[in-house]
This record gives sequence, structure tokens and C-alpha cells, in this order.
Amino acid sequence: GTDPIYVITPTYRRPEQLPELTRMAQTLLLVRAAHWLVIEDAKEPSKQIAQLLERSGLRFEHLTAAMPEQYKKKRGAKPKGVAQRNRALQWLRANATAGVFYFADDDNTYDVAIFDEVRITDGWEAVREAVLWRVERRSSVSVQIRSTKRVSMFPVGLCTKFGLSTPVVSSAGAFVGFYDGWIGGRKFPVDMAGFAVSVKFLHMRPKATMPYAPGFEEDGFLRSLAPFEPKEIELKADNCTKVMVWHTQTKANAPSPPLDMAKYNQTNLA
Ligand code: UDP
Ligand code: MN
Repeated sequence: GTDPIYVITPTYRRPEQLPELTRMAQTLLLVRAAHWLVIEDAKEPSKQIAQLLERSGLRFEHLTAAMPEQYKKKRGAKPKGVAQRNRALQWLRANATAGVFYFADDDNTYDVAIFDEVRITDGWEAVREAVLWRVERRSSVSVQIRSTKRVSMFPVGLCTKFGLSTPVVSSAGAFVGFYDGWIGGRKFPVDMAGFAVSVKFLHMRPKATMPYAPGFEEDGFLRSLAPFEPKEIELKADNCTKVMVWHTQTKANAPSPPLDMAKYNQTNLA
């Protein structure tokens, strides 16, 4: 069979949470052998998310890992999702043997083409693949994260004036550096959604972990995979020429008040 793609999604309680997870679930339903690790920033799992996951029909794990109190209390930038991603790595070390994992935050936008290797085939075989996996629009895109041997990278669309975070690739197809709105002295100045790692490689790096370092989570994690150098990156998305994932952010909304029908604005039809 097909090896799993473990999609690691930290999430936390807020008005946007269920719509974000709904959108993501609908995307992942189009991905072969997706195994969704949803890790709540909470002490107890929520019933609503348990129901959403059950109803989705996806293969999933519903885990929790709260952000440690000392970071939660801190003013300014927080290490968002770090406890949960490390919980997911722990789960993978204990339960996974093959496949690839990908850190996919709940509010980003994913094209299903990022996940799959699409073989260009003829006639009915192509139609069958297109119907099964809805990838006919992208059949020119060659090799994607499913085929990651160790660590792969690809562009992430940003909704900023920089537009993009990506490895820079020469016309001959060689890695030459990174482009990002903020390099910040990082060895791997990449977005959380811009790389994937094979489970087998994780097992070869028993100490790999994500640090509680706001802004340096990706860099810290990728450095913890040492020995591993930028020149060893497997370039995906047609040599980093295509954007198939966007770092989107949903506008924050005020939480809804507790339900009190007496205070509701109603149109009385009677
Ligand atoms: N997150 C979390 N706890 C928090 C804040 C964020 O678990 O207190 C999760 C969030 O659901 C997302 C990831 O961590 O999957 C990154 O957070 P966010 O999208 O807010 O970061 P940004 O995109 O703004 O960098
Ligand atoms: Mn986000």
C-alpha cells in the first residue's frame, strides 16, 4: 500500500477553530493515505473536535499538549504550537515506521498537489487518477512531498509584500540559497509549511526536537536534524517554481457570548 503522509496540526480554542479545521479536513480527504495528527493546545481534548474528526472519515489521532505556563504568561511573541509539534514527534517515534510528516498549521491554505506524486499517464488511466484524486489540473507538477527521502522543501506563498518564502534554485536546478522576508541569522530561513521530513530520517535522528524559540522554531528543528546541510535539501514543487501552499491567517473575531435566547435579535414572524 501507500505509505502515510502524517499531517501535524497544532490547534487551539477560538471562534475560528472549527471552520479552520473543517476546511483542512476537506482538503485532506483528497489526499491518499493522509493520517492527521491534531494536537490541541489544551489539557483535555474537546468534544467538538473529537466529533469533527470522527465525522471527517479521515484517519486521525486526537492528542493534547498545552503550551507550558511560563510561555503562556509571557508578553510578546509566544512559541505557538511547539509543545504540540513535539508531542506529534513523540507519537511518530512510538507509532510510525514509514512515510513522511508535514507541519501543517490549521489556518494555512493547501493545494492537494503539494502532497502527491502525479504520474503523467495516458487515456483511461489518467482519467481514473484524476477522478480518484482530483489532481488533473496539476498533472504537470512532478514530484511532491510524498516522495521525500530525508528533508524536502518548496515555496510558501505569503500574504506580505515579500510574497514568498522559498529556497532559491538556479536555472540548472541547483539549490543556491533562501528568499524570505526575514532571514534573521537563520541557517534555514523557511516557513513551518515549507518543508517535509521522512519518518525513517526522524528515526535516524533520535534527538530531533523543536525549540521554544519564537521565530526560530523551523530553524531550530531543522538544525536539530544535524548532520543535515541546506545543500542536501530535496527540492519539490517543480524545483521550487510553483506555490502550492499559502501561509494565510484568518482575521481574529471576538468570541461569541454564551447562548441566551432572550437577548437574541429576532424577527418575530407570528
Ligand atoms: N496555536 C496554538 N496555540 C496558541 C497559538 C497558536 O496551538 O496559543 C497553533 C495554531 O492553531 C496554528 C499554529 O499554532 O496551527 C501557529 O499559530 P498561528 O497560526 O497563530 O501563527 P502564525 O500563522 O500567526 O505564525
Ligand atoms: Mn497561522
